[in-house]
Amino acid sequence: MLKGAIHSIETFGSVDGPGVRFLIFLKGCNMRCRYCHNVDTWDGKSEDMRSVEELLDMAERYRAYWGKDGGITVSGGEALLQIDFLLELFKEAKKRGMNTCLDTSAQPYTTEEPFYSKFVELMDYTDTVLLDLKHIDSEEHKKLTGHPNENILECARYLSERNIPVWIRHVLVPGVTDDDVYLKQLRAFIDTLQNVDRVEVLPYHTFGEYKWEELGIPYTLKGVEPPTEERVKNAKTILGCK
Ligand code: SF4
Repeated sequence: MLKGAIHSIETFGSVDGPGVRFLIFLKGCNMRCRYCHNVDTWDGKSEDMRSVEELLDMAERYRAYWGKDGGITVSGGEALLQIDFLLELFKEAKKRGMNTCLDTSAQPYTTEEPFYSKFVELMDYTDTVLLDLKHIDSEEHKKLTGHPNENILECARYLSERNIPVWIRHVLVPGVTDDDVYLKQLRAFIDTLQNVDRVEVLPYHTFGEYKWEELGIPYTLKGVEPPTEERVKNAKTILGCK
């Protein structure tokens, strides 16, 4: 039986998708975002391996709190790196009548096989996608994450064609992702999409910095402070957050 490599589980999430949610964080990520607060998810190996049934049986225990909007959210790390497991998980979740939400950076997205067909099928079982757009400019994206963004924007366009409800999320880092010119470009891109339910600005914070130190990885945003309220407000206005 296929098992997922788990990083952690949160039983009551209230910000990662609609309503109250059971959150599953999977291991593994190819991106190297300079602000990552979950560096301990990068390595895909986990001692905590769990089956679909095990996870969903656990989620069922919290179902009474979900109301009509809540359900399960799978995040990471990058959940799409375990797409076979994810597909089984969401298929089974839908059989059980659960609302499903995928939180992703879309970095693994490609129209090449075998990934593409699996992704197409996964979207048959996905109610909402939380899509992190880290930088609208591909060169800047690469500097920030180690990867270009063309395939990520392609994924956003595909989700729009499929009319899968999406929340766009943008982490605001002073001097790195808060330039008005790029924020306006990001908004212009969002305007080309038909399926965006929400746009969120996530202010950069340093809560995960200690994990970099623990793992002996140099933290290149040392000294960068969280954005001021004014800069957050500015970004929200430009991006049209409600
Ligand atoms: S995509 Fe997420 S988990 Fe991966 S490096 Fe970026 S912030 Fe960290």
